[in-house]
Parts: sequence; C-alpha cells; structure tokens
Amino acid sequence: MQITYPDYYKKFSCTADKCIDTCCAGWGIGIDNNTLYRYSRVKGTFGNRLRQEIDWQDKSFRQHGKRCAFLNNQNLCDIYTNLGEEAFCTTCRRYPRHIEEFENIREISLSMSCPEVAQIILGSSEKITFIDKEKESPEETYEEFDFFLFDKLMDARSFLLELLQNRAYSIEYRIGIALGFTHDMQRRIRNQEIFEIDELIEKYQAPHNTQRLMKRLEGYWNKGKEKILLMDEMMEAWNRMEVLNAKFPKKVREARRTLYERGNIWYQSQFQLFREHILNYPILLEKLMVYFVFTYFGGAVYDEDAYSKMKMAVLSTLYLREWMMAHWIKNGKQLTLPQMVEICYQYSRELEHSDFNLNTMEKMLAKESLFSMKNFFTVIMN
Ligand code: SF4
Repeated sequence: MQITYPDYYKKFSCTADKCIDTCCAGWGIGIDNNTLYRYSRVKGTFGNRLRQEIDWQDKSFRQHGKRCAFLNNQNLCDIYTNLGEEAFCTTCRRYPRHIEEFENIREISLSMSCPEVAQIILGSSEKITFIDKEKESPEETYEEFDFFLFDKLMDARSFLLELLQNRAYSIEYRIGIALGFTHDMQRRIRNQEIFEIDELIEKYQAPHNTQRLMKRLEGYWNKGKEKILLMDEMMEAWNRMEVLNAKFPKKVREARRTLYERGNIWYQSQFQLFREHILNYPILLEKLMVYFVFTYFGGAVYDEDAYSKMKMAVLSTLYLREWMMAHWIKNGKQLTLPQMVEICYQYSRELEHSDFNLNTMEKMLAKESLFSMKNFFTVIMN
C-alpha cells in the first residue's frame, strides 16, 4: 500500500492540557463498535463510570456543558489517565489525522480544526511537499473503483499543487487558473473523455497559455460594486449550514456588517491595505488552497465531481480571507498569527466536522449559479 502525507505531518504533537481549545469539547465524539464492546467489559469503578457516560444508542460520549464527560478540569482525558492510550476509540486515537482511503492508497493529512495543526500550516512560509511511502500490506480491491479516473485525478492534483505554489505568479492568478483548469477537466470527466486530461494538463503547463489565461483574468480585476454584492451573497450562503459553535453565526453576521455596509470604494481601499500589510498574504492564501485541494480533490473518484472540490477550496479560502479582513479592521488594522490560527481552526471545525455542512456546501457549489466560474473570478481578483 502507498501512504501519502504532507511534509509537516511529523511535526505535529498534541499540546494536551496546554491546548487553547481542546478537541474534546464543542462536538459529539462517535465511538466505533469495537471500542464500545471493549468499554462494555472494563471492570471496577472506572468501568462503571465509562458505561454511564456513554450514550449507547447514539454511540458517543455523553457531554456535560458541551465538554466530553471524560475531559477533566485540567483538560486531560480520564480514559487516557485510567486506561492508557490504547483504550482510545478510533476517533480519539486518530484525531487530528484525517484519512482518505483509495484502492491500495491511503492519504493521511492533519485537520486544520486542531489549533496546533493550523499553527504548523500557517506558521511556515515554506512550500508544502508530499511524501509517498510504500507499506507492506495485502493487496486491496475496491468494488467499482475507477483506477483510471483516480490516476488522472492524481496527475491533475499534482499539477494543481505545483501551480498553486508557483510564486512567480500572483496568488489571484494561480487560484483563477486552478479553477479554470478544473472546470475544463470536469467537462472531460462528464463527457467520458478522461484520456484527454493528460493533454489538458500539458496545455495548462505551457507558459504561453498561462500568459493567455492571465490576460483573460485581468478583465476581472477591480469589479467594485459587483464584487462586494457577490461576496456578501456568498457569505450569506453560510446561513444554511448546521451550527456547531453557537458563536459562529454571529461572527459571520458581524463580518458581513464590517465589510460590506460601507460601500465598494471603502471596501476596496481597505482590501488594498489589508493585502499589503498582512503578514505573507499570498502565502496565507496559497497554504489554504493547498490544504483543501490536497485533502478533498482525490475524493472526486467516488462522485466524479472534481470541480466542486476545487470550488470548495476556493470558497473556503475566500471565506477565510474575508473573515480575517473583518477581524483586522475591527482589531485596529492588526492581525497576528494566533488570530489567523483561531479563525482557521474555528472555520474548519464548522465545515469539516459536519457531514451535513460538507454536503450542503458541495451541493450549492455544484448547482447554484451564484457559484459560477465567472462569479468566482470576480471575487478572487481584487
Ligand atoms: S485540538 Fe489538537 S492540540 Fe488540542 S487537544 Fe486536540 S489534538 Fe491536542
């Protein structure tokens, strides 16, 4: 089996009781069947507590005041202290590792919903590379796994990750071209012309084509009023999401008020200042794009929708850009790395830890004209 992971993977180490926002609060933690069985057999006083503090119907740990029943006052886990790490359920053992499984390939990333991971990702200006390792394991065969499509998706993703990290071009062009490429690629997937994806990659790799595409994108710079109306509408779409953190909807409302109520000329002037003054602005957007593309793009092998995966990366990056800018304005034109980390991990928790939210976002991106390529170009280019 091939295991693929980002180069920062091994830098992660849980900060446990020093964590600024433990992962054992704020959301339900599901328990797998094997662990439930093991917990049902633990003896003694702790065994009794374990059984009482599990919702057996829901297969999850009970919560007290939105905190896992086993998270103690020192923010340490009582299961860990009483039974050791091997007693963890799959969710607790893996988190913040995120695993995507494909035939004979396992991709492991780290979820940005963990503040320590967000800090690792945003705290470095190095380009991200990905490591492939072979691991001895029995050959896997998935029913109806389209290996040919997967192979092309992987080629396309390698191209996209390289493009998104090509700092010779401005980040807005890189994102615009990545979106345009995936749009064209999706047409080939839809028309069953998957074999043509190689040619498409070659075409997009040609420098003269990049210049041509940049020229086309130039027409979308400074769309003023149209841009803030679209961006506001895209932000409003977040209201359809399930709420995990009760404070999140208020933050979205506040960001919209801060950014869009004073008109496009004001917004544009603030944006220019934000872009110039924010620490490593293009690298920040690059990191976010690379994170979402690496994590989700390969999943298109299961639903043949690479374009929505790319749109999700773009929309998430734009949401985070806007929330950071709103925060910067409210904070007297200051935005520190810890504040960026906080915005990113909170967003990731709302989106990536709710299947409902992931599905809702994919559906609206696939179906609604608000999220057309033209509209995205308008809000990307500033
Ligand atoms: S959120 Fe991350 S750093 Fe914090 S307790 Fe969980 S795994 Fe550890």
